[in-house]
Formats: sequence, structure tokens, C-alpha cells
Amino acid sequence: TLSDRLTATFKNLRGKGRLSESDVNKAVRDIRLALLDADVALPVVKRFTTAVRERALGEEVNQALNPAQQVVKIVNEELVTILGGETRQIRFAKNPPTVIMLAGLQGSGKTTFAGKLGRWLKDRGHTPLLVAADLQRPNAVTQLEVVGERAGLKVFAPERGNVGGHDAVAGTGEGTRSFGDPVSVSRAGVEHARAQQHDVVIVDTAGRLAVDTNLMQQAADIRSAIQPDEVLFVIDAMIGQAAVETAQAFHEGVAFTGVVLSKLDGDARGGAALSIREVTGEPIMFASVGEKVTDIEVFHPDRMAGRILDMGDVLTLIEQAEKAFDKRQADEMARKFLAEEDFTFEDFLQQMSAIKQMGSLKSMLKMMPGMQQMRAQLDAFDDREFDRVEAMVRSMTPFERTHPKQINGSRRARIAKGSGVSVTDVNQLLERFRDAQKMMKSLARGGGGGLPGMPGI
Ligand code: GDP
Ligand code: MG
Repeated sequence: TLSDRLTATFKNLRGKGRLSESDVNKAVRDIRLALLDADVALPVVKRFTTAVRERALGEEVNQALNPAQQVVKIVNEELVTILGGETRQIRFAKNPPTVIMLAGLQGSGKTTFAGKLGRWLKDRGHTPLLVAADLQRPNAVTQLEVVGERAGLKVFAPERGNVGGHDAVAGTGEGTRSFGDPVSVSRAGVEHARAQQHDVVIVDTAGRLAVDTNLMQQAADIRSAIQPDEVLFVIDAMIGQAAVETAQAFHEGVAFTGVVLSKLDGDARGGAALSIREVTGEPIMFASVGEKVTDIEVFHPDRMAGRILDMGDVLTLIEQAEKAFDKRQADEMARKFLAEEDFTFEDFLQQMSAIKQMGSLKSMLKMMPGMQQMRAQLDAFDDREFDRVEAMVRSMTPFERTHPKQINGSRRARIAKGSGVSVTDVNQLLERFRDAQKMMKSLARGGGGGLPGMPGI
């Protein structure tokens, strides 16, 4: 899958101290192939990889993140951008009813989605009416009625008596004759909603297996007759490379205002989602994720990007690391290392509070790539140990914190007393701190990125 491919690309970057131009080029090449294999449209792939490459090469060195994390972050942000950035809400009409029209190919999931959207709106205090304007297939009206019943919604359907009923059209051949006029049914449906005080009308329309000029004209006619507030284009997420062409045809034909990605529960490769927004400029608003009436999600570009990257944990870690480890502090730390100044207990305290802001140390370490093998050790590690160390440092005077070498026997005894630990504990801390100082120096000389290690832990 696209997720697996991208994850493999990022793995190759792990352990790199610094990204060379050829590392970036190789990663971008891998990303390009992964996107193309996932059926993302070529122009979209090009724009995406160019943006990632430029940022990966141009970005100033980020102290809080290692190079692999930086590339993940850039790819994630560019994915969010291409998916539309912000979540777009339904635009409700100032004067109800709000009219929502559904359009899309046959089998894309319109009728199913009509029920889901109606139910979703009902759960939020609305009183939606479903309108059956797909009169192309004999059982389409019945299907909407079943969907409506399951969702607990009223359905407006053409009078069977007037059109001869379902049986009258059975056997006439799929789509060769319709049993009523979809434009007048739509118009009557909206009027009915207004009269019956439904505040939302959802109009289900007919679709064909391939883009068809007659049906596109029918959809356009319905659109001009009912002047919808939203025209939602429902597209099967598994459609692959055909997504762009189909979306463009519907965009020209019915000028949709938003997109619904359906069947996102299947093993959709995500390519459709990435292409449609970029190619049509219209936002993806909902995802349809199953056959049940409650299988509907508001589409969040950032969550979709996370899903494509399938690196939720790493992304969370990156976010937290950035928040906690503010840049000014990081620059100051880097300057100290380079000046070969001693790393002091003051710096130690600062790092400690930064890490504390990230939440539990253990859960943070567990999110780090490669830490899975260390799980047992991490589980054995007691968070209270962390508090004990902090207590000892807090019992030191400012002079002692900046001059650890001057902490003699009587100072050690005082610190032990002040923090409620034994002198042996203080001795151990000082010993481990000296090792840490050495490690920090060698890290600084090596120019390695990443979170500075926690001394003493
Ligand atoms: P329409 O022709 O556009 O009205 O499409 P339908 O709503 O009739 O859906 C076509 C088929 O896709 C039906 O068998 C639905 O049960 C199925 N379907 C619709 N949406 C979803 C979805 O989100 N997930 C899954 N797994 N199946 C869906
Ligand atoms: Mg249908």
C-alpha cells in the first residue's frame, strides 16, 4: 500500500545524521513511485514531489527533529495541503430548506450516502427529507425508501400510480426508459420539504456506469431547477486512475461544490483522494466508510494524511517534540555545545521540563521508531525515578548546578537530605551526569540532530 511504501522510504532515512542532496533525491524518487502506484494523477505527483524536495533541501536544520522526522513532517504537511488543508463544513441556507444534491456514477454510493448524511444531520438536530430523483432504474426508489427507513427519515418519492408503478417498467431494459420526470420530482420534493418544515432536503439522483451526456444533462437540469446550496459529488475511492477524468467531467457538468469519498473502508489506495481535490479545487467533505447507515465521517485532511502515512504515532511525537522543545532553547543549547561549554544541571532541568511537557516519558519513548524492542526495559523503568532525579537537582544551589565539579562531600550530604534520598543516590547521579556531559560533547562535535539524550536516564 501507499502507507507501506512511504514508511519504507522513511526507514531508509533513519539513522542518517544529516540529509545529503542525494538522500533527498532518492527519497523523493521513492515517494514519486509510491504515489504513481497508488493511482495519484501525474500532475499532482509532480507538484507534490517538487514541493517536498525543495523544502527538504531548503529547510533550516530543526533541532528538535532528526532528518528522517523532518522529511516525514514535510511530507505530512504537503499531504494535508494537497487534501485541502481545512475541513469544509456544509453551507446551510439562510432560508431553509438547505438543498443538497448528490451526483456521481452509478454504484458510487449516492443512495447509501443519502441515508448516512440524512442520519448524520438528524443526529445533529436537523429534520432532513430524502428525495428520490433517480428514476432511471426501477428499484432505485425502493432502495432509497429502504435506506430512509433504516435511517429513520422521511422519503419523498414520485406517485407510483401516476407513473404506472415499478412493475410497469420492469423488463423495459436498464435505463432505456424512465418512469417519471426527475426534474419535476426534485422540484416537488423541495416544495414538499418547505411545506412540511424539513430544514434540509437531500436529493438522490441517477448515475451511469460511465460518464454519459444525457445523464449529465439531466443532473444539470435538476441543478438549475432546485438551485441547491451544495452539490456533492460522490466518488468511489477505489476508482483509481479514472478518478481525475470522472471528477473533471462532473465538475464541468454539474459544478459540484464538495466531494464525498465513498468505500474508503475497502483497500482504497488513497490516490483518488489526493488527485480530486487538487484537480477540481473542490473540497472533500465526507468519507463513506461502510455499508451501515452510521458509517460516515467528516473528512479531515490532516487525519487522511496521517492515514496515508500510517505513522500516527510518529506524527504525534514530532508535534510534541516541536512544541516542547522550543527553537530558542534549542539554539542556545546548540551554541553551548559548540562553544564546548559545560552542560550544567540548569540545562538538565530545562530539558527535563521540556520532556515532561511531552507527557509520560515512557509512552514518549515507546513512540520512537525502533523502541519497540526496548519495550520490556521501558516497562521496567519507573517514572518516579524521574521525579527523584528532579528532586535532587532542585535541592542543588544555583552555584552547584552550574559547577557540578564543585559538589563535595558535605554538599552531597545536604542535597541528599534536601531531596529525601541517600548520599549514594546523589553520588550515582553525579557519576551518570559526568558520563552524560561527555556524551553531549561528542554528540555536539558529531553534529548529529535529534533530541539531546537525557543524562542520567
Ligand atoms: P449509487 O448507485 O451511487 O446510488 O450507489 P449505492 O448507494 O447503491 O451503492 C452501491 C453499492 O456500494 C451498494 O452495494 C452499497 O452497499 C455499496 N456501498 C456504498 N457505500 C459504501 C461504503 O462506504 N462502503 C462499502 N463497503 N460499500 C458501500
Ligand atoms: Mg442510487
